[in-house]
Amino acid sequence: MSSQTLDFVNESGISSVEKPRAIPITVAAGDGIGPEIMAAVLSILTAAGAHLDAEFVEVGEQVYLRGNTSGIPKEAWDSIARTRVMLKAPITTPQGGGYKSLNVTMRKTLGLYANVRPCRTYKPVVETQHPDMDVVIVRENEEDLYAGIEHRQTQDVAQCLKLITRRGSERIARYAFEYARKQGRRKVTCMVKDNIMKVTDGLFHKVFDEIAQEYPEIEAKSQIVDFGMANFVHRPSDYDVVLLPNLYGDILSDIAAQMTGSVGLGGSVNIGSGGAIFEAIHGSAPDLPADVANPSGLLLAGVEMLRHLGRGAVAAKVMNAWLSALEDGIHTRDIAGQHTVEHAGTRRFTEAVIERLGCRPEKLTAVDEPTVSAGAEEEPAAIAIEVRSLAREEKVLAGVDVFVDWDGIAPDELAIRLQAAAGTLFELKMITNRGVKVWPNGREETLCTDHWRCRFEADGRKNEDVADLLLKLANSGIEFIKTEHLYRFNGKPGYSLGQGQ
Ligand code: NAD
Repeated sequence: MSSQTLDFVNESGISSVEKPRAIPITVAAGDGIGPEIMAAVLSILTAAGAHLDAEFVEVGEQVYLRGNTSGIPKEAWDSIARTRVMLKAPITTPQGGGYKSLNVTMRKTLGLYANVRPCRTYKPVVETQHPDMDVVIVRENEEDLYAGIEHRQTQDVAQCLKLITRRGSERIARYAFEYARKQGRRKVTCMVKDNIMKVTDGLFHKVFDEIAQEYPEIEAKSQIVDFGMANFVHRPSDYDVVLLPNLYGDILSDIAAQMTGSVGLGGSVNIGSGGAIFEAIHGSAPDLPADVANPSGLLLAGVEMLRHLGRGAVAAKVMNAWLSALEDGIHTRDIAGQHTVEHAGTRRFTEAVIERLGCRPEKLTAVDEPTVSAGAEEEPAAIAIEVRSLAREEKVLAGVDVFVDWDGIAPDELAIRLQAAAGTLFELKMITNRGVKVWPNGREETLCTDHWRCRFEADGRKNEDVADLLLKLANSGIEFIKTEHLYRFNGKPGYSLGQGQ
């Protein structure tokens, strides 16, 4: 690890005595185009007067190839623990199995629960089919299907657990509204699929509605995700801040980035209790030759980092210089089009931005510096989130779903076996197959696999009674492969009713 102070350029007339304190950050130059675009970004930030104390760490391909399956050595973790801020260039994941995703490991280890991607178009200088877009995608970063809890349970069936928590949903919803408030944005749209996933997406939606009440000045809207994404592509100007659970957010944030004109224009922030990582959205682009890559995505991540660190004035200066270079038609290959005046490589584009530090764009909307009263320090844009603690609800056992591996085809036959084995403590109420009710009153047309959900209900039972039921089923040769308890919370069922909607 090496350290370097990215110094204040003194053309502004500020003497070294008046320099703001250097802020320590961790820098990973990455692989492929990473070192080249990182050098470009650091030279722009330095020239703008960011005054950062960069600790360089190595993560990625070479670390993986030395046998570290996470791609992150101890020195990198130690540096992030010290600085709590990382500017990270893309890395290459070596081909073949056995390597853990560095990005997922960092996100989960550091509790970076929010992924924030501002995506806007630069009309008229960068060509895109979607000229009117200026949105911020806020994606929940830790939960949902990304918990990585998967099982193959029968010959035919594998499952992945979708976990949504009230705390995680509240934290990300609050983050989205706080972000909107701080950035002067007017609307937050939440996209979920709670017409189908009533318990999990339903919880995310419910918490969104609750938190929205605390931000009456911000319009809160919710949409079913399939319609929402289709409409987003058609009319992006309908959206301002968009809040999504992890999987939908992963998909929409890539779609939105592409819509701006190039993946090379997208910056991304992963933020949470353990710090923040700022990076470009694209990968290490091993197909690109030297001096071709667009450094803009990492630069915009750097701008977000400056705001996070309370260097909003420098962030505005960098943004305005970058917008000026774009509108002067100095374009890297990925965004070249009819408004291009000069085809620039990475180095030339970087020079063009540096030359324009202090300029304001005329065609594109300039960014204003934050207002700070004389003598005061700028306030960091970091958002602190506190989650409410709610009264515990009364939780009552109402039954159990027993999942059975059975390669028969007649549900009535399975029901007779289950009823004969189960005794009298629980009543068999329903059998479903892939969520479709097949007993009682199933239909012959329903395709059945070897994975049967058998619902037993009874009030006033305990865990010992469930264990007793399972023992009876086991003694009768019924191969159960998992169970899910059915609970009512304050009298309301905490489980889907399983009618196969
Ligand atoms: P990629 O994003 O690297 O490239 C996709 C396409 O976009 C390529 O045609 C590339 O040339 C182009 N492109 C990307 N960045 C560009 C830029 N700044 N300027 C101009 N064009 C640019 O995706 P990929 O090819 O699927 O992945 C390559 C490697 O990157 C893989 O090893 C992958 O695992 C890794 N990756 C890393 C990250 C990360 O570190 N955050 C993210 C995605 C992919």
